[in-house]
Amino acid sequence: MANTSTRLGADIATPNRTKDIIRKHNFTFKKSLGQNFLIDKNILDKIVAAANLTEAKGALEIGPGIGALTERLAQEAGRVAAVEIDNRLIPILRDVLSIYGNVNVVHGDVLKTDLHRLWEEQFAGCEGVSVVANLPYYVTTPIIMKLLEEGLPLESIVVMVQKEVAERMAAKPGTKDYGTLSIAVQYYCEPELVCIVPSGAFIPAPNVDSAVIRLKRRAEPAVSVSDESRFFRVVHASFAQRRKTLSNNLTAFAGKERKAELGKLLLGCGIQPERRGETLSLQEFAVLTEALAAAGMLG
Ligand code: SAM
Repeated sequence: MANTSTRLGADIATPNRTKDIIRKHNFTFKKSLGQNFLIDKNILDKIVAAANLTEAKGALEIGPGIGALTERLAQEAGRVAAVEIDNRLIPILRDVLSIYGNVNVVHGDVLKTDLHRLWEEQFAGCEGVSVVANLPYYVTTPIIMKLLEEGLPLESIVVMVQKEVAERMAAKPGTKDYGTLSIAVQYYCEPELVCIVPSGAFIPAPNVDSAVIRLKRRAEPAVSVSDESRFFRVVHASFAQRRKTLSNNLTAFAGKERKAELGKLLLGCGIQPERRGETLSLQEFAVLTEALAAAGMLG
């Protein structure tokens, strides 16, 4: 195992080294797999610093590509597991990471991977495990939701995502970016924007700006609810049509015949029926969920 003071290898995250590796292995990028590789060493340093890794900790990387971030994780963490879907990248990763004894490259689709099993196999004895990744943008939300919902013993999630997605994750009530993703993320985690990343930091350059965001897992969810799935059903129903009022969205959900009753219920929760879902705090959604459940409106 190595740390920053005893770095092995040459940094992959430079334009020349990345091009050399790609040329050597005749690699061609697949847009459909969100393959935009990081070539900016400073950004890698910021990602790794935000993850607060030590030799006692583990890191799970999703989509290692040709190993630029993996190499840095191997230098900072005690154990690294990297799940890569593209079988063409597996021999490249094994080649460029061969000098690190603490990295395990797993070939597979992270969305189909049994992460609890992976945890047991890869991270037994680690003092804390974080997900650290430059995510494939076409599946960012399903990956984040899987990580949040599976109840993994995660310390934090430090990920590169599209800037617009990072803004949605961190958005506050009453803003245009606030929605179901903001609520899901903030229910489980405290989001913190680490930095904005211009498209020139990648090969090939994506069409959009990116951002690194850190999601620190809360010890307890942000609000207390008796049934999480009910809470998220109410959240989704409240945003079913963004421009509709809460009363109209929830009437579509609870049934037209209960519209008047619903209006009174909302007022009883201290929520004006003409408000929109995007203005409600997590606490207001929690109060509303319990009231709807008590009134038998959630089936
Ligand atoms: N970590 C590398 C870097 O920063 O240069 C590459 C990041 S690139 C944005 C995303 C990577 O995720 C690609 O290597 C791609 O093949 C991989 N990938 C795409 N979909 C995946 C999935 N469902 N499961 C695992 N890896 C995936």
